[in-house]
Amino acid sequence: MDTSRLFTAALQLQEPWRLESVDFRDAGDGRRELHITIGFEAGARFRCPEAGCGQAACPVHDRRERVWRHLNIFQYKAFIHAGMPRVMCPEHGVRTVPAPWARPGSGFTLLFEAWAVEMARHLLVSTLAEQIDETDTRLWRLIAHYVDEARRLEDYCVLSSRGLLFVQCFPAV
Ligand SMILES: [Zn+2]
Repeated sequence: MDTSRLFTAALQLQEPWRLESVDFRDAGDGRRELHITIGFEAGARFRCPEAGCGQAACPVHDRRERVWRHLNIFQYKAFIHAGMPRVMCPEHGVRTVPAPWARPGSGFTLLFEAWAVEMARHLLVSTLAEQIDETDTRLWRLIAHYVDEARRLEDYCVLSSRGLLFVQCFPAV
């Protein structure tokens, strides 16, 4: 398996996304980083991201360059770069296509976030930040997102008579 196919499989890229390049860059402090660039086929069309919109093949209007931190690959910090397409929907106008590998607005990939949230259960965030050479502010922001999301899935309406203990939690409907 060549490098391109290996990375395409590891990142689970599906059409029209494709691997464009993988290269090492100097991080400026003597260390090297792995930079993975993802693109899409010329002429590719995308579904309108607006909820409930049935437009499945909108043409690309333009692209916005984005970068996400990904899981380390061996000892190297890894980043994913992509020119994210904005599509022209006949109903909704120009809309940004979300990256399949990241949460909208996040600077990390979903795989990185899942790993960081799991690690944060076992380590102080400051320790984790130091170990992975990341700012604790960015880590706290992503952890806060998942804590808020978990809270939304719970309903704290049933409390004990003392109001101190959570007796039962129901999934939110
Ligand atoms: Zn639309």
